[in-house]
Amino acid sequence: MPIKVLARQVISKIAAGEVVERPASVVKELVENSLDAGASQITVEAQGGGVSLIRVTDNGSGIPEGHVELAFHRYATSKIDTLTDLERISTLGFRGEALPSIAAVADVEIITQAAGDIAGTYLHLRSSATVKREKRSRPRGTTVTVHRLFRHFPARLKFLKSPTTENGHIANLLSQYALAFPEVKFNLSVDGRLTLHTPGNGNLRDVVAEVYGLGVAQQMLEIGGVAQVPGVAGLASPASLARSSRGYLSFFVNRRWVRSSLLARAAEDAYQGLLISGKHPIVILNVSLPPQEIDVNVHPTKTEVKFRNTQTLYAAVEKSVRKVLVKAPPPKVKIATAPPSASPSLWTTEPPGTTSALAPSLSAAKGAEATSLPILRVVGQLASSYIMAEDPKGLYLIDQHAAHERVLFEKILAQRSQQKVEIQGLLEPVNIELSPRQEEVLKTKGELLNEFGFSLEPFGGRSYLLRAVPAIMKGANLSEAVRELLDVLTSDEGPLRREETIAQSLACHSAVKAGDSLTDQEMRELIRQLEQTTQPRNCPHGRPTMIHLSSRQLEREFGRTG
Ligand code: ADP
Ligand code: MG
Repeated sequence: MPIKVLARQVISKIAAGEVVERPASVVKELVENSLDAGASQITVEAQGGGVSLIRVTDNGSGIPEGHVELAFHRYATSKIDTLTDLERISTLGFRGEALPSIAAVADVEIITQAAGDIAGTYLHLRSSATVKREKRSRPRGTTVTVHRLFRHFPARLKFLKSPTTENGHIANLLSQYALAFPEVKFNLSVDGRLTLHTPGNGNLRDVVAEVYGLGVAQQMLEIGGVAQVPGVAGLASPASLARSSRGYLSFFVNRRWVRSSLLARAAEDAYQGLLISGKHPIVILNVSLPPQEIDVNVHPTKTEVKFRNTQTLYAAVEKSVRKVLVKAPPPKVKIATAPPSASPSLWTTEPPGTTSALAPSLSAAKGAEATSLPILRVVGQLASSYIMAEDPKGLYLIDQHAAHERVLFEKILAQRSQQKVEIQGLLEPVNIELSPRQEEVLKTKGELLNEFGFSLEPFGGRSYLLRAVPAIMKGANLSEAVRELLDVLTSDEGPLRREETIAQSLACHSAVKAGDSLTDQEMRELIRQLEQTTQPRNCPHGRPTMIHLSSRQLEREFGRTG
């Protein structure tokens, strides 16, 4: 065949093939455009593995009326202008290829409205040609809908995996962008089901909770906070929290999601000697570098970057991660509690942070001074409600219910974060009647109850049979506990807080009550367990678990000192 220049249409299809490899590539390009447009909310819908439909809606800048067609021209972009701009790219897109590439392999509809435009623009393209254009108003922002991807590309379609796998790629991609942009609210629905939803409050840990679960979010260690070039910031798992694949390593360079073996090696090397072989950490890191230090124009999908100074970068990442790993205390569940109000009475409560009551040996122990307990000797039980105990520095009166609540609360959260919730099947199922509201909550959020160890099945009308409960609940009034939990779940709390609220409620229902008489052995055991909690001095609601009368106070009250 003689050599000839290919027809424009053929060229555009070849080029499109590089940018749009699979449905997730379309999502990537559209989401990047939304982020470049400054959106604070991005909603992605996918149907049929992204082949039938992908829709991305944002509240970004929108495209001005006269520029909409231009956006679908190859190499048309608003993001760079000159060759110098190419040397310092600060946007995710810059090649002006995405929209034309997508339009070359699918039907595309766009509705967009820019600030200041009286009306928005609707455009429908089929095989890159406009088939409809009209004015259509909408709030500022852009919605791009991509139908029937690769319909005219049977070869490409054949190479796609099952819809489930393609959905997985889309979900992973969106998770990565959500991790890179915690201040943006992301929603992903797949075949009508909401599968990812981030709060957009700027808190990376909250995004991690949505993507990897609460247990992980609570345990991750914070990297960064030091001003340096390159800047390294994010979260890394403690060595105790490892995974069997590298799929939990996420790297961003100036918040661009990148695949980089250099960064992966640097991060993993930081764990050297801490992880058993075959295990990998969970790491989410953003590297900030002056744009001229990197070249992102390496590949049409822009997921690879070249670094000017690889050695400095490697060292900075490895060092930043290593530093927090070495410093990390033994794994503890992070728990937030309100400080108790101090009472000025004879019996003083001990707000956390007070060290006067601590045995010298313990208060000297680093990191333990604020909350740990001295070794206590049980003296007896008072009014079947309080445990009296002493140490050389004075007398302690411990609220047995509050103390047990603290112990159980931490145990529940620890079991959750290690995914080792102990479940107790019930020999006699318990019949529970729910209110319409409680039933609604059970339908929407019942999965969370399952994760905590409850198993409920419908029994006609609004009756349910409780077949299993968390093992921790033995002795509790189960139907009351379940109903209260369903009430707790109606509230609009964030995921971390919601988890704590459930644990609080479970702990409260399962703990010994005031009025229960305890044996010496039981009291000793309870105090021993309380000593091992992170905040022994407060119950999960923040109330004090104990009040303390120091030897000095006793002496003063008895007039032994002046
Ligand atoms: P690039 O992102 O590389 O510039 P694209 O083909 O992805 O190229 O987009 C072309 C242009 O269309 C962008 O430069 C931008 O001006 C405009 N555009 C695309 N999507 C959006 C969006 N969601 N909001 C605002 N403008 C957009
Ligand atoms: Mg783009």
